[in-house]
Amino acid sequence: MNNIILLAPPAAGKGTQAGLLKEEYGIPHISTGDLLRGARNSNSENSKIICKMQDEGKLVPDELVLELLKERLDNDDCKNGYILDGFPRNIEQAKKYETLLEDLKLPLGLVILIDLDREIAKNRISGRLSCPQCGKIYNSNITELNPKNGNICDECNVELKHRSDDDASTYDVRYNTYLESTAPLIDYYESKNVLFRVNGNASKEDIYNEIKVIIDNNK
Ligand code: AMP
Repeated sequence: MNNIILLAPPAAGKGTQAGLLKEEYGIPHISTGDLLRGARNSNSENSKIICKMQDEGKLVPDELVLELLKERLDNDDCKNGYILDGFPRNIEQAKKYETLLEDLKLPLGLVILIDLDREIAKNRISGRLSCPQCGKIYNSNITELNPKNGNICDECNVELKHRSDDDASTYDVRYNTYLESTAPLIDYYESKNVLFRVNGNASKEDIYNEIKVIIDNNK
């Protein structure tokens, strides 16, 4: 099984697709946003930096992200592949990631770009909700992603939360950060012949099926 990097603008559905792929292929979904959110409450200097940068929609310093990622990738469950969501966010991180892969003796694998119009993504975030326990993502603006009962997780029965950085003005900052820092990765990975594009304006099922074909054809 290949390692998979999901590349996309914020709120393009990376988390939703990663959750489905995790079930299908039995490999872990590693979200650097989630790893960082998990480190927000540690009461250290680093946690203050993480809270500030995440709440403002800006990128957390590379070394903090790399440290959390290295620890996570070193786990045995990553040996047969994993889905990386939210990393790398810039060329610098991509290069440091390659060094990390060499150390851990892991292959680069595939990069899947979920391409999406800015306004569609922006509309999605106002309804986005996630489960604080299992991380499953719902959306009150998209019928197929509605929770079954009010604001309660279908799986864990706990109340769903709206992310603190999911508002329209923070979205603009996050999208601009994506354009400036992350979008150059498209050319970077294209030149390495590992990039595959899917249409993120399509339905959740269609995006998922497109991604599955790419993965299955490149095992
Ligand atoms: P995400 O959950 O991927 O939308 O990320 C939410 C926030 O976490 C981002 O706006 C950044 O503040 C931070 N973050 C997540 N991944 C990274 C990364 N690879 N590098 C720097 N900051 C990150």
